[in-house]
Formats: sequence, structure tokens, C-alpha cells
Amino acid sequence: MEVRKIAVLGAGLMGHGICQVAAQAGYQVRLRDIKQEFLDKGMSMIQRSLSKFQSKGVLTEQQVQETLSRIHPTLDLKEAVADVDLVIEAVPEIVEIKKETFREVDSYTPQHTIIASNTSSISITELGSATNRPEKVCGMHFFNPPQLMKLVEIIKGAKTSDETIQTVMEVAQKMGKETVLVKKDVPGFIVNRILTPALNEAVALYWEGVADRDDIDKAIKLGLNWPMGPLMLLDYIGADTVLSITEVLSKEINVKFQANPGLKQMVRAKLLGRKTGKGFYDWTGK
Ligand code: NAD
Repeated sequence: MEVRKIAVLGAGLMGHGICQVAAQAGYQVRLRDIKQEFLDKGMSMIQRSLSKFQSKGVLTEQQVQETLSRIHPTLDLKEAVADVDLVIEAVPEIVEIKKETFREVDSYTPQHTIIASNTSSISITELGSATNRPEKVCGMHFFNPPQLMKLVEIIKGAKTSDETIQTVMEVAQKMGKETVLVKKDVPGFIVNRILTPALNEAVALYWEGVADRDDIDKAIKLGLNWPMGPLMLLDYIGADTVLSITEVLSKEINVKFQANPGLKQMVRAKLLGRKTGKGFYDWTGK
């Protein structure tokens, strides 16, 4: 199936970036959020990012203008999805909101439309079950920021068809992304299944007093060639997000993934990292 029009639901951190890469790739894109101020914020983040690409010589002014002309922001879900070939959902990571969104989208879109979710941890199979087209539902997991990160994990739910996977892979590739296929719908997919336990272990080393913060980060930066240490990365992602993925892994896969008590303590103390100004590092004034 050829995809020409895409709807992106949610103009937040991920949604605005996905919308931008889709428009840059030549797709007509409808961007939907629930309040005008969120749409405006998303559009201004897109404008800022495109200007950066222009000032670095990656895009010409004409390409920036053409990209913007392909984006159509709207508050109306029905209008956003009525004639698109692919919907990419990037609404908050709350299962009830996602399922309701999938139910509504299913009732407004044509039969052929594929509905993909950018979820990090919610079951694709469960989202597919909220629709009458589970064979056309899959995961399309971008990384932050979508404008720069090359990878998209494509996730097959229990009933997703091979044709759906093929179509979505082609779209991701047209967006200039590299894809990997996650053949089974398991929590964490590939990247978070490996990353989250590693971050949890870094927290354990810290709270057990095995090493200082800076030495843990230095060890992994120099020993594994990570661009930043795990404790700093945890501050970027947010202790709450890391805790919630860890809890899903331990509940759904194996208790061996259980969250370290120190991580839970940090979340209780609102030491979430960048978003609260303090985590392992002090982010106030940065
Ligand atoms: P965010 O909070 O920045 O953005 C979510 C947006 O969705 C908000 O603007 C909100 O107003 C809007 N929204 C709420 N209900 C809506 C609805 N019914 N329809 C349309 N829009 C609605 O969140 P985010 O970080 O962009 O995360 C979005 C999704 O992407 C989540 O599923 C998350 O797990 C996933 N994800 C996040 C990251 C990350 O690093 N932040 C990385 C990969 C995947």
C-alpha cells in the first residue's frame, strides 16, 4: 500500500518531531492535539528545529517552507484522520488514553488505514484489541529527538499482518530512518529491555555505595563508549519514566528486573532529573 497522508496524534516532545520528519520526507501531515496552546507549542518547536537545520545548511529556505506547508495542525480528531493512510499515535503513556484514542480513530478512518503507536511500554496487542482492525495496528517506536535519532523499532502485535509491517517499514525508511523488526510484542522491545536494567543497575551501584556518581558515569563512558554515563542519561529520561518501564518489565517478564529501592526513593522525593531540576545532577539554572 502506498502511504501519502499521515496523521500524527499528540504535538508533544515526540509528536512534533515525528510530524516534522514525516513532512520533511514529503508526506502531507495532519498534526492533532487537544488544546490550541499545545498545537502552537508543537508548531513553534518544529519551526525552531527547521531553522536550526537551515542555519546549518542541511535544508534550504525553500525546503523549510515546503515542509511547513505540508503540515496541517488541527484540534478535530475526525478531521485529522478522516482521509489518511497512516496514523501515528504519540499521546501520553497512559493506557486508557491510548485505548480510547485507538477506539475513536478506528471509527473515523477508512478501512485501509494503518494505526501505529509510538508507545514505549504499552502492549501493541492490547491497543490492537481496542479496534476492529488489529491486523492493521503495530508499534512504530521513535527515539528522542525524532529529528536526529536514526532508529525506529517496528513492533508486530499478536495479530499484526506482514503487509502492515512492510508498509510501515517503508514509511520509516522514506523518513530517512533505520528500522529493526521486533517480532514479538514484549515490554521494552529491544532498546529499553537492554537499557532500562542497565540504568537500574547503575542506580543500585550508587545506592549500595559501590562507587560515586561521577565514577559510575566515567566508567561506562570510557569503558563502554557511551556518549554519556547512565546516571546522567537517567536524569535526561526522568527517574519516573525509568521506574515505570522497570516495573512493567518486572511484572510482565521476570521479577529479576525489579526496580532498585533507591530509584523508587528518588521518584518519591521528586528527584526526577532534568524535569524537576534535580536528580543525580543539579539541573537548576541550566
Ligand atoms: P508529551 O507529554 O510531551 O506529549 C503528549 C502530547 O499529547 C501532549 O501535547 C498532550 O497534550 C497530547 N495529548 C493528550 N491527549 C491527547 C489526545 N487524546 N489526542 C491528541 N493529543 C493528545 O509526551 P511524549 O514524551 O511526546 O510521549 C508521547 C508518547 O511517545 C508516549 O507514548 C511515550 O511513551 C512515547 N515515547 C516517548 C519518548 C521520550 O523520550 N519522551 C521516546 C519514545 C517514545
